[in-house]
Amino acid sequence: MALLEVEDVSKAFGSLKAVDGVSFKVEAGEIFGVAGPNGSGKSTLFNVITGIPFGPDRGRVKLGGVEIQGKSGNEIARLGLARTFQRETSFDGLTVFENALMGAGYGKPGRAESEVRERAAEALEFVGLTSVGFGRLAGELSVFDRKCLMLATAIAMEPRVLLLDEPASSLTKPEIETSIGLIRRTAERGITIVLIEHVLTFLMSLSQHLMVLNQGRVLAAGEPKTVIADERVVEAYLGT
Ligand code: ADP
Ligand code: MG
Repeated sequence: MALLEVEDVSKAFGSLKAVDGVSFKVEAGEIFGVAGPNGSGKSTLFNVITGIPFGPDRGRVKLGGVEIQGKSGNEIARLGLARTFQRETSFDGLTVFENALMGAGYGKPGRAESEVRERAAEALEFVGLTSVGFGRLAGELSVFDRKCLMLATAIAMEPRVLLLDEPASSLTKPEIETSIGLIRRTAERGITIVLIEHVLTFLMSLSQHLMVLNQGRVLAAGEPKTVIADERVVEAYLGT
């Protein structure tokens, strides 16, 4: 059984079908890539899977065989689904450490405070934020460090599946290289990853399976090399 199963999921905004009958399966332990031109429905797909801020209009989403569509975002997160956002999102008025604490303590009311602190610190060390300083305000960090903080906070939640929405956007080339290594090591921790990226080369080096969306629909899916050679994919990216 696949860890994450998305079946015929749709979401419309008025007459715009942002996600239109999308189905795919993600196996435990893999990095599953989602590509597509701007506006093809990638972020909306993550929204409807996580239920934040809205679930799908129709279709089913299963995590470990359990249907999660229609559940609240909090409940879905507690079941083991975490995400990062396309724009760097953190509690800017809180410190780096306080942000990571929010992740480590999330949905685990019985957890000892010492353990919550340990998890938060470990996640921050893992993403390389130790040198930045745990006491710095999140709002003062660079774009790259804020992306790392968003990742650390998500990792501290110990999700089964982590959805990453364009982690490489607005990063420099060396930062992208660091980011690729970090995502690979996150997968090695046993976290299954669904990775949205507009830049195909980024996905090619990381994902075992690749799905390309266009106008809310699955244009092609399968082995990455085969998918990017698909005529329809080439066309969608060139906009011809
Ligand atoms: P992508 O992440 O692939 O760039 P999005 O999922 O953000 O695409 O958007 C898909 C389409 O849905 C776009 O046309 C976008 O304008 C529209 N859209 C996304 N979110 C909303 C919303 N909350 N209200 C209305 N339209 C939206
Ligand atoms: Mg997007």
